[in-house]
Amino acid sequence: NKMLYNDQIVERENLINIEDRGYQFGDGIYEVIGVYDGKPLMLDEHLVRLERSAREVQLNLPSPANELKTKLEELVAENGLNEGIIYMQISRGAAPRWHEYPAKDVLPVTIAYTRAEERETAVEDEGATAVLAEDIRWLRCDIKTLNLLPNVMAKQKAVENNAIEAILHRGETVTEASASNVFIVKDGELYTHPADNFILNGITRRKVLQLCDSLNLKVNEETYTVDDLLKADEVFITATKLDIVPILEVDGKKIGTGKPGPVVKQLIREFRALYMDETVK
Ligand code: PLP
Repeated sequence: NKMLYNDQIVERENLINIEDRGYQFGDGIYEVIGVYDGKPLMLDEHLVRLERSAREVQLNLPSPANELKTKLEELVAENGLNEGIIYMQISRGAAPRWHEYPAKDVLPVTIAYTRAEERETAVEDEGATAVLAEDIRWLRCDIKTLNLLPNVMAKQKAVENNAIEAILHRGETVTEASASNVFIVKDGELYTHPADNFILNGITRRKVLQLCDSLNLKVNEETYTVDDLLKADEVFITATKLDIVPILEVDGKKIGTGKPGPVVKQLIREFRALYMDETVK
């Protein structure tokens, strides 16, 4: 099993410097990319988001996105990965531990590796449950940074309650979930939190918005409350590799009929058709 370390594909081993800023401060950015039939899905979109994250935290990417793209495709081929994910992160590099950015000659450290993962079509078809958790994160959730402790704590709460996700709210407003975006359906229209600093603008979320557009489903990128969520006809979450998962129950309260609804079922069907087109050559 190989990994990408800066611009080299090498045998996977622990090459982490104890003064790597990703390790000490969570000072870095990352992407998780789904691989279907040996091909990374929406890789360009992930790289555009990576570039944006880098800009927002003033991290100079060590190589242009198109070079990174070639390396990631090479890594997937080297590892013979058919179905799974690529994890990639770029930290601000290794330097003596001081909070401020290190000197310009300290280069960012890029790593990427792959992990085989089976598709979870059963959970997409059957749906899952979620819990609520207060969103205690910072005010730049739009940047995909390594600082994930609040997300980790929220997901732990979900798992302890046999739920797939923790749906986060700032006061009354639903933002997103610990590692996914949240949509609700009410009277045939969809609602999802606008892509501002309170959420990560998911690649899957954007694809769902495009799909809704082509299906003439109305989406309101507007905030909605916990009460709206609990009274919705349908709730679903979106994320890389999870794709689209119906949420049938939140904090033990049944959503709509308690079964996957017609809107989410249609979106799952269309989403599958779409990545099959993109990945099956
Ligand atoms: N929101 C958060 C906080 C996430 O960590 C993720 C990624 O897993 C998402 C949303 C979904 O984003 P994407 O669809 O790009 O995977």
